[in-house]
Amino acid sequence: MSAAARGGFVPFSFEVFPARSARAALSLGHTVQNLAAAGPDFISVTYGASGSSRDSSLDLLRYIREHTTAKPLAHLTSIGSTRAEIEQLVAEFCAAGVYDFLALRGDPPAGVPEEEVELGELGDTAELVRLIRATVARRVAEHAPDVGLAGAGPAAGRVCIAAFPNGHIRSETKHQDVLALLAKQEAGAEFAITQLFFYADDYLDYVAAAREAGVSIPILPGLMPVSTEAQLRKVSELAGQVAPADLLADFQAADGFAPEYGVAHTTRLATELIESGAPGIHLYTFNRHQSALSVLRELGVITTHPFDKEIA
Ligand code: FAD
Repeated sequence: MSAAARGGFVPFSFEVFPARSARAALSLGHTVQNLAAAGPDFISVTYGASGSSRDSSLDLLRYIREHTTAKPLAHLTSIGSTRAEIEQLVAEFCAAGVYDFLALRGDPPAGVPEEEVELGELGDTAELVRLIRATVARRVAEHAPDVGLAGAGPAAGRVCIAAFPNGHIRSETKHQDVLALLAKQEAGAEFAITQLFFYADDYLDYVAAAREAGVSIPILPGLMPVSTEAQLRKVSELAGQVAPADLLADFQAADGFAPEYGVAHTTRLATELIESGAPGIHLYTFNRHQSALSVLRELGVITTHPFDKEIA
């Protein structure tokens, strides 16, 4: 029996990143249309280190807002920005009809090692959460007659945050991460999305520690159905995780390319998480819809799809 059949409705969402070429932009439109047609809670759009993708992120968010029925959620980072710059950016996103944000410190700018990252004018991400919330509220109060939240959907205006089941690279202890999560909740964050992880216990132990410390917001597990050995190695390194040996061996036996193994691994992981009470799943799509939608089908979360022929 599928996870969905066992546990009822399972909310899901997707992450995409802005295209890096005109050719990639063409296929990204197609991908986003396919993802949106599956009925996600939202589609989130990444933001390049130090605002390097500012225009392309906003363009993609606008595309989602204007050409699909999905709700766009904007990643926003604080490294390298002043308070005034962030207020202006949030106002610009609101003007484009985007009111939901993922508040992040941000990856280090190109060439800067993690240990040299300076937090800048905003001391921590909890402060960014407060600033985004205040700016959205002000924007809505000032412009409600023109851009009121009603048009953005019933739950618009949410700020979410990142969570690190296996610890952030800068954290000295896992408990420090839980305390950072608690501080972001206290600043008004409404839910969290986790960094990639490969084992259900990583997530379940972390959620238990977070609940113990007083974190009550939903913590969405972030999962990525990888398609190739190279992708698995790259995302593991970026997320500071050890790639599962069995999955690596499967890819190697298939000459490196085997999307079905990534789908099977993610489906097993998601099933265990949902059965253990996860509030839904967030899928890192790598700008490819096929594997993400295959996971949802395997879980029984979606059955038919408007573009079935295209994603077969
Ligand atoms: P915080 O909550 O601010 O910190 C996490 C932990 O690290 C805390 O324990 C904190 O105390 C510690 N810490 C952080 N910085 C320091 C420091 N300088 N000194 C000491 N301790 C520190 N990055 C992007 O650039 N763009 C994106 O679009 C993007 N999307 C992401 C989406 C998700 C779901 C996740 C999980 C991460 C994403 N990232 C993105 C990466 C993220 O910006 C980095 O992991 C960043 O280092 C942490 O950001 P945060 O706001 O979650 O961390």
